Amino acid sequence: MERIVVLGGGESGVGAAVLAKMKGFDVFLSDNGIMKDSVKATLDKYDIPYEDGDHTYYKILNAKEIIKSPGIPETAPLVMEIRKQGIPVISEIEFAGRYDAAKKICITGSNGKTTTTSMIYFLLKNAGLNVGLGGNIGQSYAMQVATEHHDIYVLELSSFQLDGMYDFKADIAVLLNITPDHLDRYGHIMQNYVNSKFRITQNMSSEDCFIFCSDDDITVKNLNRIVLQAQKLPFSQKEQVEQGAYLENEIMYVKYGESEYEMPIKDLSLSGMHNVYNSMATAIAGKIMNITNSTIREALMTFKGIEHRMEKVLSVGNVLYINDSKATNVNSTWYALECVNTPVILIAGGTDKGNDYEPIADLVREKVKALICLGLDNKKLHDFFGDKVPFICDTTSAQDAVKKAAELAVPGDTVLLSPCCASFDLFKNYEDRGTQFKEAVRKL
Ligand code: ADP
Repeated sequence: MERIVVLGGGESGVGAAVLAKMKGFDVFLSDNGIMKDSVKATLDKYDIPYEDGDHTYYKILNAKEIIKSPGIPETAPLVMEIRKQGIPVISEIEFAGRYDAAKKICITGSNGKTTTTSMIYFLLKNAGLNVGLGGNIGQSYAMQVATEHHDIYVLELSSFQLDGMYDFKADIAVLLNITPDHLDRYGHIMQNYVNSKFRITQNMSSEDCFIFCSDDDITVKNLNRIVLQAQKLPFSQKEQVEQGAYLENEIMYVKYGESEYEMPIKDLSLSGMHNVYNSMATAIAGKIMNITNSTIREALMTFKGIEHRMEKVLSVGNVLYINDSKATNVNSTWYALECVNTPVILIAGGTDKGNDYEPIADLVREKVKALICLGLDNKKLHDFFGDKVPFICDTTSAQDAVKKAAELAVPGDTVLLSPCCASFDLFKNYEDRGTQFKEAVRKL
């Protein structure tokens, strides 16, 4: 029996282990953290040996292939040893893709992945198709391949997942945008990160479709450098396109083959220019999948936003509080500021991933009346924004940040949590940060 070792006992790792077991491999799962009891119960149920709290090298380095969780960096000593020994390392998606004949719609980008993946899934579901949702979102793709049957999968792919993908092929690939993010994991070299995103196009043939944003210079420049067989379907808010989607006089037009669709953007359920892009990508995917215009319209009009993404929490004393905790990079905060039309009290900060704040400097000058830093080390924010905002202060908890914001706000203002940064200095994750923010707002 060939040995497969799975590293990381999260959602994707457990799914991969179960699938590998069902396909007859000698499977072992190793996690150097402490795994949840529910995870252990699943592994026991499928009779899969595992360890947690440590990595036992000799039980791992004898593998034929290793399925690594996207969360484990290349710099982890174990991964460096695996690389030294030349053992192939793949991601859960690569592995599951080998056993899955379903049509695959894959979404990547620096921002908007979860929103667009959920929107496309919602559209296909509404169209009555047998569709599964996976990747960075929801239940593990591998687990679904092991235990369910779907005709189509909508998969959210991060750059880390794409790094472990080689033979996998998307039937429809969506690349939403590329802006600096996660550079700490890419040796602070932007091109490495860009290359990783472009892996979504690998192995595509002329029957496949590549949906991308032609307003995104980095995408266009890099697209021109590669040979891509797939049909290219751009979306743009700046120029008309022959095939794909574009915006004119606040109306979104979609063209695919002979078929056309149009819709005023005021009818979209999600506001903000970023969501016009996300909706365009969704509509193009819908057209490719031959979904009727009325179903596309209905889906785009009724799709509900996702928690922690420009989520309107409450209006207190005519001050609106918005939770955009998922804005963990500068570009997503740019879109947040862009779509708020009142004076803003901005709560930002956290773990900086090598941010350049210049792209939001103008919007901050124009709209932000106070910047409340929410992080352990706020020096970079002070240095950059100190002379651009009338007021700046430090806080170290969501409660304090909200309290301070409430003191500063006057009726008509918006308090926006859109941090530009990861949350790990003060919170478990961005969900925890958003939840604590919402609780504090509700207590006002
Ligand atoms: P991801 O899964 O790529 O992190 P999300 O859909 O979770 O993307 O959104 C992350 C953040 O980016 C949120 O703050 C959201 O408002 C913002 N956002 C969503 N779509 C886009 C887009 N197309 N371009 C820029 N920012 C976006």
